[in-house]
Amino acid sequence: MIKLLPYCSTRNPFSLLILLTLLLVQGSSQLVVAKGKEKSSALRARSAKKRLSAKSTKRASSARIRSVSHKSARKVSTTTKTAANSTSLALLGPKYAHVTVSDQKLGGAVYYLASGHGGPDPGAIGRYGKYALAEDEYAYDVTIRLARNLMEHGATVYMIVRDPNDGIRDESVLKLDHDEVTYPNQAIPLNQTLRLRQCTDAVNRLHRKHKERYQRFVTIHVDSRSEGQNIDVFFYHHENSHVGKQLAKHIHKSFKSGYKRSQPGRSYLGTVSDRSSLYVVRNSHPPTVFIELGNIRNDKDQRRFLLADNRQALANWIYTGLQTDYTTR
Ligand SMILES: [Zn+2]
Repeated sequence: MIKLLPYCSTRNPFSLLILLTLLLVQGSSQLVVAKGKEKSSALRARSAKKRLSAKSTKRASSARIRSVSHKSARKVSTTTKTAANSTSLALLGPKYAHVTVSDQKLGGAVYYLASGHGGPDPGAIGRYGKYALAEDEYAYDVTIRLARNLMEHGATVYMIVRDPNDGIRDESVLKLDHDEVTYPNQAIPLNQTLRLRQCTDAVNRLHRKHKERYQRFVTIHVDSRSEGQNIDVFFYHHENSHVGKQLAKHIHKSFKSGYKRSQPGRSYLGTVSDRSSLYVVRNSHPPTVFIELGNIRNDKDQRRFLLADNRQALANWIYTGLQTDYTTR
């Protein structure tokens, strides 16, 4: 916004028009980034600014400037459907694609979100009556709900594992499919190491692109190993990452108070610990938290995932932890 100020103070009769165009271009940036287009918002804003200022200094006719602004506005309308404080993302599914940006609490923050497994690898499979519950589908639903929460507060969000047609789903039994891809559109290999490397590489490439910004990587699983026991939510970070540890602690704290509010009788036994042996924790460049939300094979845990409201609550609690982490950075 600071960059826009000189325009506000000029006596240029077209300053308002230019300001409006720049605001529109900026408003579309989040969506453009989320969709993985190559041009960054900064570049778009800069090139629009350059185009416009070149024209205004050239004794250009007002008609020409109008046509430029008109063109930009039309371009924006193909990606952003409504006003500057809302955006849309097809990946969220038809019912949830439209996102109202209520504030900019996370403006400037960049998040990489990856649900565990996907593509040819469904992860753990739980049994629920005649149904099979696949870990990757439940982890994905919580993750994409979290993506939407973050977008509502102005964050730039990259869904690293993406399903082109699932979106946010409100059913209890989520159908297993195999069409997830890795950002931007890479087929996921079956080999575990190759799959994890593909995910980590995608995150690290984007991390380089956003060098100056606050960036965090959140990966979500539903297959913790303590199967059969009374298990809870686990948060892992790299042993040498102080910020990663802080991130994990903030989300853990949010779960603690979330459970206290919603299920006062329940004892919450979630933990934060380092686990640098995990591939993505070891190899990702942004501070990373690896979350195990439970185990899809465990009857008690299944209840946590079968209801869409519960999946939303989990996403909300992760969101709250992330927001605390950003505001106390
Ligand atoms: Zn997993």
